[in-house]
Amino acid sequence: MISEDHPRYKSLILRERMVNAYKAGILADAGLIAHGRGEAYDYLIGEKTSETAKKAIEAGSAALLLAKNPVISVNGNAAALVSDDIVKLSCVSNAKIEINLFYRTPERVDAILKVLKKSGAEEVLGVDDKNLEHFKGINSPRGSVSPEGLLTADVILVPLEDGDRTEALVKSGKFVIAIDLNPLSRTSKTASITIVDNIVRAIPLLIEKVEELKNLDEKILQKMVDNFNNTDNLKGSLKIILSSIEKLESK
Ligand code: ATP
Repeated sequence: MISEDHPRYKSLILRERMVNAYKAGILADAGLIAHGRGEAYDYLIGEKTSETAKKAIEAGSAALLLAKNPVISVNGNAAALVSDDIVKLSCVSNAKIEINLFYRTPERVDAILKVLKKSGAEEVLGVDDKNLEHFKGINSPRGSVSPEGLLTADVILVPLEDGDRTEALVKSGKFVIAIDLNPLSRTSKTASITIVDNIVRAIPLLIEKVEELKNLDEKILQKMVDNFNNTDNLKGSLKIILSSIEKLESK
């Protein structure tokens, strides 16, 4: 039992959720390591959504609203931490949900499917192996994608990603919105829009933003996307990290 007045309460609760998800077969062991890397960066960005991340969230919301076939790609970490919010975001943005895993086993797909269904998902793609096709340029099991989802999507939201797949998706002409706490990862540098924030904060904010922007003219939304510069935004997140280190040094 974690006490609410523990200074690292929120972080410990997330850890507990991850460990339980691992035990339930939702998460691969490597997912726990990825979470640890994320925690370290979260510490450095101050464990809150920065103004820089908010700009990326606005541009990402506009891109989702402009999309013809948006897809949210879900892995074990995302299912363990934010399945309710993923389902809500898919409803407000008309995005499909597709399970896409590096450590893909039928048992893990089934466990994630159950979590998403419990959160209210009606349709989940990427489940039945025999309906999947190969995505050119992705040689891991993440290359197995559904024809009506990731294969033909124009805009893809990837909460937690590996750099190889981001590169292949962007190379094939897709607009990729990544959520990654590490502004130095290949994913962050390659994605069209990177939200440097924890998925547990970023997805609820994306839901809010999509609802706020949904009645805007397409031209205004397009301007929001065009005015966003991913490299500049990543530099903004790096500055936040540097200044948190400098503050510590000057103590
Ligand atoms: P790349 O291949 O893109 O260079 P990587 O090898 O670090 O990155 P993975 O280990 O597959 O990629 O992915 C984990 C990434 O997800 C890390 O960059 C980590 O910072 C990030 N991450 C982990 N947990 C969270 C979270 N809760 N919210 C946002 N990002 C997270």
